[in-house]
Amino acid sequence: MTVARDAVVIGGGHNGLVAAAYLARSGLSTLVCERRGVLGGAAVSEHPFGPDYTVTSLSYVVSLLPPALVADLGLARHGYHVYPQGPYFAPRADGRYLSLPADPSARRAQIAKFSARDAAAYERYTGHLARLGAVLGPLLDEIPPRLGSRRPPDLWRQGLLLRHLRKLDERGAVDATRLLTGSIADLVERYFESDAMRGVLSVSGVIGTWAGPRSSGTAYVMLHHHIGGTDGQAGAWGFPRGGMGGVTGALAAAARSFGAELRTGAEVARIRTRAGRVTGVTLASGEEIDAATVITTAHPQISFLRLLDPAVLPAGFVEDIRGWQTRSGTVKINLALGRLPVFASHPGFDPRVHGGTIVLAESLDDVETAFQDAVSGRPSALPFADICIPSVFDDSLAPAGQHVMSLFTQWVPYQYAGAPQPAEIDAYADRVIARVETVAPGFTGSVLHRQVIGPHQMQEEYGLVGGNIFHGELSLGQMFHARPAAGYADLRTPVRGLYQAGSATHGGGGVTGIPGRNVVRQVLADRRAARWRRRAGAAGR
Ligand SMILES: Cc1cc2nc3c(=O)[nH]c(=O)nc-3n(C[C@H](O)[C@H](O)[C@H](O)COP(=O)(O)OP(=O)(O)OC[C@H]3O[C@@H](n4cnc5c(N)ncnc54)[C@H](O)[C@@H]3O)c2cc1C
Repeated sequence: MTVARDAVVIGGGHNGLVAAAYLARSGLSTLVCERRGVLGGAAVSEHPFGPDYTVTSLSYVVSLLPPALVADLGLARHGYHVYPQGPYFAPRADGRYLSLPADPSARRAQIAKFSARDAAAYERYTGHLARLGAVLGPLLDEIPPRLGSRRPPDLWRQGLLLRHLRKLDERGAVDATRLLTGSIADLVERYFESDAMRGVLSVSGVIGTWAGPRSSGTAYVMLHHHIGGTDGQAGAWGFPRGGMGGVTGALAAAARSFGAELRTGAEVARIRTRAGRVTGVTLASGEEIDAATVITTAHPQISFLRLLDPAVLPAGFVEDIRGWQTRSGTVKINLALGRLPVFASHPGFDPRVHGGTIVLAESLDDVETAFQDAVSGRPSALPFADICIPSVFDDSLAPAGQHVMSLFTQWVPYQYAGAPQPAEIDAYADRVIARVETVAPGFTGSVLHRQVIGPHQMQEEYGLVGGNIFHGELSLGQMFHARPAAGYADLRTPVRGLYQAGSATHGGGGVTGIPGRNVVRQVLADRRAARWRRRAGAAGR
């Protein structure tokens, strides 16, 4: 059977849904094909412990979704709501804790427990990040120009880049260079002397990254996580109601309200082309859908090496996609708890603690050692964990009195993407739970259910090739004009009518929706240009 649509979107993750919503809003008949039985991709809520618990399977907090996108698509009307996440709380095995509350004088007192010098340095540190974020943040929103191209429209767009760089003075230019090329260790060790501060602040430099805090490029990863904002506060994160599936649920409802059709269990087996132009897709069921516009949001190695015949692509492009670095060694652990953890250092319920970002990383060296273990081929002996308990705010996630906990942890060897390694992954999860037990005695006994998702499951079930949480590392060589291939960071591809908008494109890396929104700008611009060419051709005849 063959049907036809103006546009087909491959993948019902958040970027696919954003693209579908904007396409349908522009009047294009749009079909989303999602391979899994559920929409959401890596931003999904599921029920591995039965219907009483809702677990945010992979991603867990939102910050990078632009407010203008939320407004454009009317997401609040479709249930999108974010509870601001509380501050960092880092309990330590010696019975102390560090927390970083929003109130400046309370924060200073907290940091001063570990170092008066660090307490004084914190404002300078955040000021430094804010200045760099103000210059580099807006670049995340942009469609990168084709750097190196000599075509006049590309030269013009390259020139426009200068308007961002003009915001940098001489000091800022050096600071930006150092941030882009340096390590998170270089940065935090410059400002802070205590293990407690260095440990906590190093974590956001290595989240989802196959690199330890002493590896170059990790300072930028931290800034990437710092750029977004919840309620307009830079760097603030929040828990969406209903887990991350609340975000994609709202996006799906918005897309449907504009007329898009969203299909699950609809795996695309082939992207069809003729004479360098896309003609549609063929589903694994054999169904054919004709479309002059196809947007793929699947991982680039799926899109360009499996769904397309690489022979129809230029050799240099295929080489870039084959060489795409997509490792991370992340393990996500989701738990159902009979009660909240009782921290030895801070007993009793405190929404700023239980509703905050609970970080287990006592020093930067601990984090680096955890990475080096995995580099040597062993899962970390002492994994770090970035933990949250969204049910503290959202009572829809667990039965009254019970909770769900999300633990983002690293590292196992990235090669685990190639095989399930159940015994090693289980033993690793035991160590993470034992680490929580050290700071919250009795915790292990409160665990009712557990789900452990390692790199292999991320790859096979969720389509995150190599287990990388962002469809590809956020390393300097894979950013901006290099994401994901030379000459194609503008969301187009070598096949006319075929576009890309997953996390491996610029603006991606997290639940940003930016590629999904920007790709529609490209699609509409190309359709307008084609109309003009047709009209000009008709007028000339
Ligand atoms: C453990 C983990 C924690 C994370 N934490 C956060 C966080 O807290 N905050 C944050 O902002 N980001 C986080 N991220 C990153 C973020 O979730 C991803 O970058 C983002 O969700 C990717 O969205 P996407 O739409 O680009 O791709 P995806 O969500 O991966 O969607 C692509 C979709 O394409 C589908 N697909 C693949 N092949 C086919 C095919 N042949 N036919 C049809 N469909 C296909 C897949 O099934 C998938 O649903 C995390 C990721 C992970 C894995």
